[in-house]
Amino acid sequence: MKALVLKDIGKLEIENIDKPSPEPGEVLVSVKACGICGSDIPRVYKDGAHNMPLVIGHEFAGVVESCGEGVDEKWIGKRVGVFPLIPCGECECCKIRKYEMCKRYSYNGSRRNGGFAEYVTVPEWNLIELPETVTMEQAAMFEPMAVAVHAIRRVNPSSEDAVVVMGLGTIGLLVIMFLLDMGVNNIFAIGNKDFQKKLVMELGVPEEHYFDGSKDNAAEWIIANTNYLGADVFFECIGKNESLAVGIEAAAPLGKICTVGNPYSDMGLDRDVYWKILRNQLTLTGTWNSSFTHDISDDWNYVILRLQQGAVHPEKLITHRFGMDEILEGFEIMRDKREEYVKILGII
Ligand SMILES: [Zn+2]
Ligand SMILES: [Zn+2]
Repeated sequence: MKALVLKDIGKLEIENIDKPSPEPGEVLVSVKACGICGSDIPRVYKDGAHNMPLVIGHEFAGVVESCGEGVDEKWIGKRVGVFPLIPCGECECCKIRKYEMCKRYSYNGSRRNGGFAEYVTVPEWNLIELPETVTMEQAAMFEPMAVAVHAIRRVNPSSEDAVVVMGLGTIGLLVIMFLLDMGVNNIFAIGNKDFQKKLVMELGVPEEHYFDGSKDNAAEWIIANTNYLGADVFFECIGKNESLAVGIEAAAPLGKICTVGNPYSDMGLDRDVYWKILRNQLTLTGTWNSSFTHDISDDWNYVILRLQQGAVHPEKLITHRFGMDEILEGFEIMRDKREEYVKILGII
């Protein structure tokens, strides 16, 4: 079968490899769509994956083709999304069903073979069946959507709150999409590219609530636009000192800051910025991955419900689609930032 294999750092190639067969408890999924995640770019070009060679891609969906031993054959032919994290089931976090913090997890696309291939094997536990109205492209965006919902739920903004989202990549934009869907309307979006302004306006944010953070002082703009009260909730979706500092400087007393973006480098704060955490009694909250417990209230089921109800349209954020033979171009666009993009999908 055709697969996109990361052989070593910077060495990403389309190869013909053996079609896998499902182990006991697993199924074989025929992949239909797989998204390139922002985290795939450093994985491919800078840091490498935990095990190489490796088929990368953790944002995928497809159709179950066959079942391993002990798996209910009802799955065959079913359209499925896949939670890519495979928890150990035994550590302290798994015992309380916070699988996203499992200490000994495996992961499709970073620790075991992932979705940029014609076929991938996944445990039955990781499957989630698609309702008829949910498309494969939407399902390939379950993971980033669930990550966005998880971040929101970590800080739970109310509909009265002034909420700032800084960093308008896929996750930042999805945070805005779900906030609006939850009735949180007083949203301020900070980006650095003109096409991001267009996108947030399409999502429903008024033009005057968009600010280009590369041009001027974003903290001053936030404060001036919130009746000098500051932001009640701030989502840092970049992972840089400067944007974290904006969040702290612009936070209202008792404000909450959710750190969403993976850090680019060491993070540090100037002393006068740090003081504001204390004096304004701010809450800094981390968020990681998403909840997947098979309960109706977990992040994945929430995302599917909203899609099924037609309340959210993540496909608006798909800017590029590539077949398997051209998918490397998608990685290069994201690496070199040579075109405007949000979500780039492989259609397999
Ligand atoms: Zn991802
Ligand atoms: Zn565990």
